[in-house]
Amino acid sequence: LVRRKRGQEDTVVRAKDVAIGGPAQTLIAGPCSVESYEQLRAVAASLKEAGVRVMRGGAFKPRTSPYDFQGLGEEGLAMLKTVAGEFGLVTISEIVNPAHMELAEKYIDIIQIGARNMQNFELLKAAGETRMPVVLKRGISATMEEFVLAAEYIVSRGNGQVILIERGIRTYEKWTRNTLDISAVPILKQETHLPVLVDVSHSTGRKDILVPCAKAALAAGADGIMVEVHPDPQVALSDADQQLDLGQFRSFCDAVKQSGLLK
Ligand code: PEP
Ligand code: MN
Repeated sequence: LVRRKRGQEDTVVRAKDVAIGGPAQTLIAGPCSVESYEQLRAVAASLKEAGVRVMRGGAFKPRTSPYDFQGLGEEGLAMLKTVAGEFGLVTISEIVNPAHMELAEKYIDIIQIGARNMQNFELLKAAGETRMPVVLKRGISATMEEFVLAAEYIVSRGNGQVILIERGIRTYEKWTRNTLDISAVPILKQETHLPVLVDVSHSTGRKDILVPCAKAALAAGADGIMVEVHPDPQVALSDADQQLDLGQFRSFCDAVKQSGLLK
C-alpha cells in the first residue's frame, strides 16, 4: 500500500488546515521536550513570527538513560494543546505506548513514532487504528525495506495519513550524532507516495551545519524539515547541544527561505 504504483500521485497528509506533502514544503520546529508553559509559549511566538505552523515537542521522551528527564507525560501534551490554541499552531508529539492513542486524540494533532520505536509493531498497529496523521521516524539502523514495511503496518490498518522522516542512521562517524542519509529522500520519494521529511537536528546532533543540510534535503526532494528550537538551549532538559536558540532559529528560517528551495 505504501509503495508507489505507476503514475500514482503523492499523498498529502492533512492536520487541521495544514497540508504536508504535495506542492509546498513544511517546516516543523519546536523543543526536543516540552518543559513548561513559558518555554513552549516562547517557542510558539517565535514560530508564529517565522510563519511556521507546525510545532513539535516531546512529552514522552525515549531516553537512553533511565536517570535522564523522561518528559512531562500527559501534562506536557496538555501544554501543547493550550499553547497551540493560543498561537493557532498544529502540534506533533511522540507517543510510545499503544494505550496512549486516546491521549494523542485528546491533546495533539499529529502522532510521532520515534526512531527507537520504528519496529514496535504493537505501537504501529495502534497508530494504524487511529485516524490521526502519523510521522514515522526511520529506525537508528533501519534499512529502507524495514522503514517502508513499518509504514505499511500503519497504512494496512486503514490509516493512510503517514509521513516518513529520515533522521540519520548510526554509522562509525563521530563528528555528527548520526549520519544523514540524504539518498533516503529520493529513494523514498520514488518508491513510496508518502511525504518525506528530514530531521536535521537529530541527524546531525549539531547546530552549525543545519542550513546546508536542510538545503540538501529540500534539493533532494524532501517535503519538509524538522528542527529543534529552545528559548535557552543551555538549560534544556534534553538534547541541549543541538537545539537552536530563538535568534538562531530566525536566521535558520531566513537562510532556508532565501535559498528558494522552500515553496
Ligand atoms: C525526537 O524527535 O524527539 C526524537 C527522540 O527523535 P528520534 O526518535 O529520531 O531519535
Ligand atoms: Mn531531541
